[in-house]
Amino acid sequence: MKILVPVKRVVDYNVKVRVKSDASGMDLAGVKMSMNPFDEIAVEEAVRLKERGVATEIIAVSCGVMQCQETLRTALAIGADRAILVETPNDPSFELQPLAVAKILKALVDKEQPGLVILGKQAIDDDNNQTGQMLAALADLPQATFASKVEVLEGKAKVTREVDGGLETVEVTLPAVVTTDLRLNEPRYVTLPNIMKAKKKPLETVKPADLGVDVTPRIKTLKVSEPPKRGAGVKVPDIVTLVDKLKNEAKVI
Ligand code: AMP
Repeated sequence: MKILVPVKRVVDYNVKVRVKSDASGMDLAGVKMSMNPFDEIAVEEAVRLKERGVATEIIAVSCGVMQCQETLRTALAIGADRAILVETPNDPSFELQPLAVAKILKALVDKEQPGLVILGKQAIDDDNNQTGQMLAALADLPQATFASKVEVLEGKAKVTREVDGGLETVEVTLPAVVTTDLRLNEPRYVTLPNIMKAKKKPLETVKPADLGVDVTPRIKTLKVSEPPKRGAGVKVPDIVTLVDKLKNEAKVI
């Protein structure tokens, strides 16, 4: 069974991003980029399924600019077998949106026929949480989102999902789409020998048009703004003053 793992290149989670002065988006000049953390979990899960003999091949795919090759090399170093870059225009005004990514992935599902597609539950840059669900709809595949445990047995996957107030276990027939939650696993560290090996693994580059996909954006971002600044705190001398302030100033009790 093949596993397709879409990996997105995003701003590293340690970076504090700044909004551009014209409020059109984030200023990404010179900012450190990394693999979306939920996608690292997805690659790790696919590698574990391969180590357990469930999967035979892991294909990492990234949609975006040429530099996404670095993200794909990381996926190959974790243990993916080959990679596909679906290259989009390197134009700062072009935005690749979840529906376009889902259409690209649908075309790759048709071509590669994977038994499982494991995506992150969301990309930490624009927090959409849409691509996996849209892919499942477009490809007419069952989906199990927010997975914290995945077991594959005889053409089916048993997936434990993190839901409000607990865990839900569902069974889906393969092929299926799974999206990862934080507690699914702890990704391994990438070792230097594996980074070297990854350089020799195959990485194919295609364009969305080669897959017959139109990536024209459907949504227009009107404005991006910083969260409101927090005011300075005050020290209160005792509980009575604290309760009084919460009641009469903050009006929260
Ligand atoms: P989102 O719906 O944007 O929050 O993204 C959810 C998941 O879809 C991510 O964790 C990735 O697995 C996948 N994904 C989104 N955008 C891309 C992209 N440009 N290239 C590859 N995978 C992506």
